[in-house]
Amino acid sequence: MPGKILIADPVATNRIVLKVRLSAGHFEVTQASDAAETLRRTREESPDLVLLTGGLAGESLATLVDALRALPGQADLPIAALVSDRLPEAERRALATRVDALIIRPTSDAILMARLRGLLSQRNCLRDLSLQAGDGAPGFAEPAAPPLHHPGHVAILAPQGAPGQMLLRGLARHLRHTLRLVDAAAPFPALNTGPRPDVVLLYLPDMGDRAARELFAELRTARATRHAAALALLDSGAEETALHLLEARIEDVLMGRTDARELAARCDRLLSQSQTLDQLRRQTRDGIRASVTDPLTGLYNRRFALPFLERVCKGQEGAGRGTMETGFAVMLADLDFFKNINDKFGHSGGDQVLRHVADHFRRCLRDCDMVARIGGEEFLLVCPGVAADEARQTADRICRQIADTAIPLTGLPQPVHITVSIGLVMGRAGRGELSPTGGQAEKLLAQADAALYASKSHGRNTVTYQPRSAA
Ligand code: GH3
Ligand code: MG
Ligand code: MG
Repeated sequence: MPGKILIADPVATNRIVLKVRLSAGHFEVTQASDAAETLRRTREESPDLVLLTGGLAGESLATLVDALRALPGQADLPIAALVSDRLPEAERRALATRVDALIIRPTSDAILMARLRGLLSQRNCLRDLSLQAGDGAPGFAEPAAPPLHHPGHVAILAPQGAPGQMLLRGLARHLRHTLRLVDAAAPFPALNTGPRPDVVLLYLPDMGDRAARELFAELRTARATRHAAALALLDSGAEETALHLLEARIEDVLMGRTDARELAARCDRLLSQSQTLDQLRRQTRDGIRASVTDPLTGLYNRRFALPFLERVCKGQEGAGRGTMETGFAVMLADLDFFKNINDKFGHSGGDQVLRHVADHFRRCLRDCDMVARIGGEEFLLVCPGVAADEARQTADRICRQIADTAIPLTGLPQPVHITVSIGLVMGRAGRGELSPTGGQAEKLLAQADAALYASKSHGRNTVTYQPRSAA
């Protein structure tokens, strides 16, 4: 079953006809005949989508939409309005700013089904992203929180000439977003420069069905536009194109007569959706980043570092830097007598020293190198594509510079000093795969650890190079 739809219409025959149409599309259907029943059934039956199809006694549809959105847990409930093209202008506009789809009658079954499926899939996508982002309260119009949306960018793809210019001018009067007119015949050099659009408006009056589909497919895969919401403005007869674009999951389609204010309202709504999804994607990315980051120093943590080393061993990371031919360096670095720092200057003094040393590692290394805090005062450094001599020089330099650096601690008149002991070992990508036992990463770590232990035994503040390559 693709989803449960609540049809709200005061006229029983309308509901029955629609129920037959929707059931043929395998939707589960439930019905309400007035505003109060629509609200009650939404609360009690949690439909996946509400389809408002006519004036419900005593309520304008727009008021009902607001009431539905205000129900607990229903801020992201998809709401579609299926209305006559004779609906008064003011009510049509009020709906355009609120609903997820404004579908003008008459419409074919195919278009109606495609629109409803599209809305359900958008809601699923939002829910999935919300889950990944760890956001418990998804919703495009969450009433409790003020909207986080800010002015955005709308790209209008239109043929060159007067109609596109008129559209731009008409929209500019009603939108607070920046608008850009882009030639639909060759949009890409232009879309790849300048701000990334939140919404792409496709105005394709004379474009054939196939060309429109290809253009949309290109927008969905291009870096600059793949996350933008898209809206197509089509002639009333372009049903086939509308259907194809909806099947390809375009967010919105407007067919036939549309005034600039209504179009602006749809763009505005899509832009809010697009920004909400962007925000969730950012949250997800930040969450992933946080899970592999050490909060004290901002370096990577063990969870990131060990798989990274394994990838380097397999030649999957840093391969362009010659890890196959030259090899790569693995260093374990441990602060000397760090416990004394904590004992003398307290835990927060120790933390400052750790942060200082982490900054130092970061400064010493190249972009392709990786440094992680893998224990309390223990760090792992992996440097792809370096020869043994170069690696030894780097390790010696790190050791010397840390010893030479005076570390200021807040509240202390005198800076403190710390030294570090390092164990260094060289690896070569691909060795683990050739060896029947594999596990090059563990062997390298064990050897680097032994080398570190040797540095500690030899009086600390030194580098021990374990020349025997692991394999
Ligand atoms: P060695 O030269 O043999 O490495 O001596 P050490 O004192 O550095 O080593 P030891 O393992 O005896 O002590 C490490 C100390 O690091 C003990 C622990 O309290 C401290 N430590 C571990 N994690 C943190 C941290 O996140 N912050 C602070 N301030 N101290 C930490
Ligand atoms: Mg130590
Ligand atoms: Mg230690």
